Amino acid sequence: MQDNDTIVAVASPAGTGGVGIVRLSGSGAAALGRQLFVPFSAAFVDFKPYTLHHGRIVDAAGEALDDALVVFMPAPKSFTGEDVFEVQCHGGACIVHSIVEAALQLGARLAERGEFSRRALLNGRMDLTQAEAVAELIAAPSREALRYGLNKLDGLLGQRVQALHASLELLRVQVCVAVDFPEDEVECLSPEEFLAGAGAVVQGIDALLAGYTRARVFQQGAQVVLAGSVNVGKSSLMNALLGRSRALVTDIPGTTRDFLEEMLDLDGMPVRLVDTAGLRETNEAVEGMGVALSRERMAQADVVVLVVDGSVGADEAAAEVLAQASVVPVVVVWNKADLARPKVACPAWAQGAAGFVVTSARSGEGLEAVAQCIRKVVLADANHAPEALAPNARQAQALNRARAELAALEDDIRAGQAYDVCAVRLDAAAAHLAEVVGLDSPKELLDKVFSTFCIGK
Ligand code: GDP
Repeated sequence: MQDNDTIVAVASPAGTGGVGIVRLSGSGAAALGRQLFVPFSAAFVDFKPYTLHHGRIVDAAGEALDDALVVFMPAPKSFTGEDVFEVQCHGGACIVHSIVEAALQLGARLAERGEFSRRALLNGRMDLTQAEAVAELIAAPSREALRYGLNKLDGLLGQRVQALHASLELLRVQVCVAVDFPEDEVECLSPEEFLAGAGAVVQGIDALLAGYTRARVFQQGAQVVLAGSVNVGKSSLMNALLGRSRALVTDIPGTTRDFLEEMLDLDGMPVRLVDTAGLRETNEAVEGMGVALSRERMAQADVVVLVVDGSVGADEAAAEVLAQASVVPVVVVWNKADLARPKVACPAWAQGAAGFVVTSARSGEGLEAVAQCIRKVVLADANHAPEALAPNARQAQALNRARAELAALEDDIRAGQAYDVCAVRLDAAAAHLAEVVGLDSPKELLDKVFSTFCIGK
């Protein structure tokens, strides 16, 4: 692959639609565009940047393929940072593919997956978080997820991480001075200052990680597990909640769905609602596997909804679930209220729960309250930053690694470790932060460090 060769791809979705988009990017985009495009206007001289031109698209032999609008966006002010030529044609599969075919015949190359974004990254048009934001926006299942995606596309997360990275670089410079000129009068970084500097970056990382839970919920759905004994009304409640839901959320990538799990939209919050096998001791092998699976799903849940048959009251299964309440938030649902109501608002046995709601899956009573309670409990834990800024799983992993290095660094500083040993951890933490935004290589980091040195004294 040459760096700047001209790539082509269909940018609109597969299938037919009103409009189809074919995009070319690279050094030959303008020349190819001139061969593909025959203007309708007699006044047309050449492509005016960022201006739509109307005309006919032709293949390499000059045969007409479609009428279209085209736009030329010269480097560096285009999505990829290269010359870009875009064709907005009619959205037929044969039309878009014929235009791609014509571009290939004229010397373009078929783009690889994500290659336009990768070029944008390589050309400094966006950092890795912004490139990922494009994919997150497209996959967003909720309005809230759109906000997260847009903020990230604006580069807000990247800027925050870059700022933390710059703080570590500054510490690195100060550490180098301390190591290289220990006897000199150069002002040295004291262990207290070193600790404070590292601590500030840890706080910055923690602030970003705090948004992760909330974003994950809105991007992938909160996992809500219905648990309790058999026949208490779990399936009925699941169906009632699904019936209440405004819209089923489908096609969220990365979610596994089996017959027990359904996606629903809980007033803007996507939820993966899981109906589990009733919890009871059993010698029956298949049922036993179901019960083991229920326990597994409960352990992974964001919220466990413990359903209790109000006409029977709390039983062993309820006690088992409530015993987990310190690990996973439990919402107690007193179901079958049409048959029996609780004597007090929240009975003593349910005191450890995060919420208590009275329902009747049969009459529909309490469904709103269950939905609200689940939302409140899921989001209470999310401790989100007001600007809706949150790393995705990859970014959170890199941030966590950077944080772990910094925590170990703090221990080293307190233990009086030599600064050149401490510097190794500092570099490792910086490298993990660099991974978040796609900044490269320790070598670059070192170049930067030494370029700030005044070594010639
Ligand atoms: P699961 O085993 O916990 O999933 O329970 P089901 O949803 O299958 O319900 C068990 C039985 O209880 C069924 O006969 C339901 O019709 C009945 N049931 C469920 N919810 C209610 C309710 O709110 N009121 C009444 N009276 N019966 C209910």
